[in-house]
Amino acid sequence: MLQPPRRIANVKYAIRNIAAEATRLEAQGKRILYCNVGDPLKFDFATPPHLVEVVVKALHDGHNGYAPSAGIKAAREAVAKDANRRGLSRIRPEDVFITAGVSEAIDLTLTALLEPGDEVLLPSPGYPLYNAIAARLDAKAVPYQLDEAHGWSVDAKELESKVGPRTRAVVLCNPNNPTGALYGKQTVLAVLEVARKHGLAVLSDEIYDKLLYDDQHVPSGTLADDVPIIMFNGLSKAYLCPGWRVGWLAFVNPALTREIAGAVQRLADARLCGPAPVQHAVEPALFGPQDHIAEAMKRLRARRDLTVKRLNGIKGVSCVEPKGAFYAMPKLELPGLKSDEDFVLRLVRETGVLFVHGEGFGQREGTHHFRVVFLPPEKVLSEAFDRLGEFVKSWPG
Ligand code: PLP
Repeated sequence: MLQPPRRIANVKYAIRNIAAEATRLEAQGKRILYCNVGDPLKFDFATPPHLVEVVVKALHDGHNGYAPSAGIKAAREAVAKDANRRGLSRIRPEDVFITAGVSEAIDLTLTALLEPGDEVLLPSPGYPLYNAIAARLDAKAVPYQLDEAHGWSVDAKELESKVGPRTRAVVLCNPNNPTGALYGKQTVLAVLEVARKHGLAVLSDEIYDKLLYDDQHVPSGTLADDVPIIMFNGLSKAYLCPGWRVGWLAFVNPALTREIAGAVQRLADARLCGPAPVQHAVEPALFGPQDHIAEAMKRLRARRDLTVKRLNGIKGVSCVEPKGAFYAMPKLELPGLKSDEDFVLRLVRETGVLFVHGEGFGQREGTHHFRVVFLPPEKVLSEAFDRLGEFVKSWPG
């Protein structure tokens, strides 16, 4: 029997792995309440029609061949122009690479940065793709723990304590998936200072920067011109088209990252290009009507408020209020609970409610969490929290 390489055993992605169990249960006729996947299109959100039209037109106009490996000119120009108007003044179109979602931007960047054995500092809890790619590269993902008692904030001392001789980069996900925490200027400055002091690259994942409930987003790149910063963003979330696979990376202070940009270019050349027709939606997305975002946030605010209230109303469950995105990361404090994966699996088997276990995102040792995606309508969320409440009440059942 053929065997995969050892490093692939560490490539894990809990969000999809856990969904396999729900699919199995659904095939047996069980009704599943999906609160596990960050795809707005699975619920009552739709891609803005003007963007759909642009892509349909691109298809009809014959834009069906390969695009340049770094992306079509109009898209790179739009990303740079949008960055410039938001205070990221040093980004030029040639510093932007259009990719197959932010996922591929992360892949290209980590591949261009890390030797086997190098270390990358990742928020814990955090988005598991970073860990998966680090594993694939035989690099080491080193978690820095976010501080749940203070709104899942970054503790700069804890972060700095994790820097070692092989550390190359630190990832800041702002707002964060899975906690929904939003980091303000002081926090971003503190992370940048650690990076500056230790010569690290900052990978700033800003995919949720427009999905905010109250406060403003601070792009990391507006706060330092002397730190190598690579910014990630894309259309998936704010423009409601995750299946199109449109994302990008931008070198914020390009003079500091020329060699890395060259490596990204070589990697991008080797994979030919990101999906081409959909790249025509980048300019109209960034510079066209934005009404759908306010409309989505109105609905999401009600769903977030309901989620926080209902979770905090269950004895043994507590939840920090998310400030951005559509995720919450409640804590479980239940007698005898050994594994949140076990909790989540039992919950879906017994009640049909599907969350993702905290372990899949990383968490402080000895603590247990699960991630709630609060994209579903309030009626579905209410039913899910009713069932969760009953399940927890009967714990250990
Ligand atoms: N980064 C974060 C923090 C995410 O939550 C996600 C998707 O959920 C991604 C990147 C990947 O996004 P994309 O659809 O652009 O590949």
